[in-house]
Amino acid sequence: MASQTIFEEHPEIAKLFPDLHPPLTRQAAVIESDRCLNCFDAPCTSACPTHIDVPRFIKKIASGNLQGSALSILDANVLAASCSRVCPVEVLCEGACVMHRYNKQPIEIARLQRHAMDTFHAKGGSLPMKSDIERPGKIACLGAGPASLAAAAELRQQGYQVTVFDKRPLPGGLNTYGVAEYKLPTSSSLREIQLIADLGVEFRFGIEIADEAALAELEREFDVIFLGVGLGAMQKLVVPGGDHPAVVDALKFIEEYKLGLKTKVVGDVVVVGAGNTAIDAACAAKRLGANSVRILYRRTEEHISAFDFEYEHARHEGVSFDWLTQPVAVHSFDDGLSSIECVAMEIGADGSVKQVTGSSFHIKCDLVIPAIGQSPLLEFLSKFRDLKMDKGCIVVDRATGQTTDPKYFAGGDCVNGGREVVDAVADGKRSGVAIAELLEGAHV
Ligand SMILES: Cc1cc2nc3c(=O)[nH]c(=O)nc-3n(C[C@H](O)[C@H](O)[C@H](O)COP(=O)(O)OP(=O)(O)OC[C@H]3O[C@@H](n4cnc5c(N)ncnc54)[C@H](O)[C@@H]3O)c2cc1C
Repeated sequence: MASQTIFEEHPEIAKLFPDLHPPLTRQAAVIESDRCLNCFDAPCTSACPTHIDVPRFIKKIASGNLQGSALSILDANVLAASCSRVCPVEVLCEGACVMHRYNKQPIEIARLQRHAMDTFHAKGGSLPMKSDIERPGKIACLGAGPASLAAAAELRQQGYQVTVFDKRPLPGGLNTYGVAEYKLPTSSSLREIQLIADLGVEFRFGIEIADEAALAELEREFDVIFLGVGLGAMQKLVVPGGDHPAVVDALKFIEEYKLGLKTKVVGDVVVVGAGNTAIDAACAAKRLGANSVRILYRRTEEHISAFDFEYEHARHEGVSFDWLTQPVAVHSFDDGLSSIECVAMEIGADGSVKQVTGSSFHIKCDLVIPAIGQSPLLEFLSKFRDLKMDKGCIVVDRATGQTTDPKYFAGGDCVNGGREVVDAVADGKRSGVAIAELLEGAHV
């Protein structure tokens, strides 16, 4: 996968973003795995969208069989290394752990999974093939994010020829370009994807499939196409002055520091929005040296979409929150920003928010980071005439991921509107299995 040579690690970034949940030592992993009750009904497994057999892999760690543990995890989730670091486990496997019922700490499933996966990678493990014959059938995956990677790995492991296209120079989608560095360093995302490339999946980078001609070409070359294109650009802050160069959307800001293009932030930063992306951007600005970081949100604390643990993390990092605050203009000097003008908001009895008359005030700032959601790829998806869409998301058969155009399958953010890495992986794998069944039927 030639593109990886263009990514260089940046030690100064690594120093600023140490692991949020550091790895377990071998001894700690054995002690922690011994606490697992190996529940027969495994609520942790049911809570995982990829249904990793949690008791099984933990038992193997306890018995010292780390290779077997990793292979059992990978069987369910090919991006298990990144999922062990980025999954919101508090609301998934660890949230479902029966230890809660006994008022005990849940088993540290994510750190145990990371232990198994880190050891697997350190020992140069490789993904097993599931078939020893090459099967007829060529599949194109559009986008090299978690959804396409999971679909590609499953299909290749079953012996099909798979090509993954991405408009960017590096694979991984938001795993590589978006997820906070203290959860998943870019280099770890790329290392995991190398295993998929080593299976024989072909990657073509820097190729944007954007028009009908490119699609027609793809349809000629491939039997089935999987759409794992994610969501589009971030929504703009539409206020006077919102197009100033010192107004930088959260995805661009995060991508720049992850790639080492931005290593320092000076002055006061204002982040607009209170979802997980806003939290990631705010924490990063603080770590990169911002004097102060404030998150502005038009509603109140109980309405934010960020997970509770992300919110607590931001407070711990020194980020402050301004509730019931809406930006109305960005003001600048010749050489930079001066302030963001805001108004106070109030929530009516019917739950609607409205501006408080005459409440305008200014917050001094040098950088504004809007984090107010990604838009769907409406223009791109409108090129597929036979795809049914619902509120900007591709409609699929939930059991297979097949779209209303039988040649196309889809999964991940472009189907669910933006969830988690593990959901994209689950979608991709499900489609991989269904595409293999379809092709097998077509060639008997
Ligand atoms: C800032 C941020 C932080 C996040 N943090 C977490 C987290 O901590 N934990 C977690 O579980 N989830 C997190 N998520 C969500 C998670 O990253 C996504 O749910 C997941 O990456 C979706 O995977 P995907 O494959 O559907 O799409 P993506 O990861 O978006 O990948 C889509 C790929 O398609 C490519 N593409 C798009 N259009 C085309 C085209 N026309 N031609 C060629 N290529 C194309 C793109 O370049 C991209 O590489 C975060 C999201 C964001 C925005």
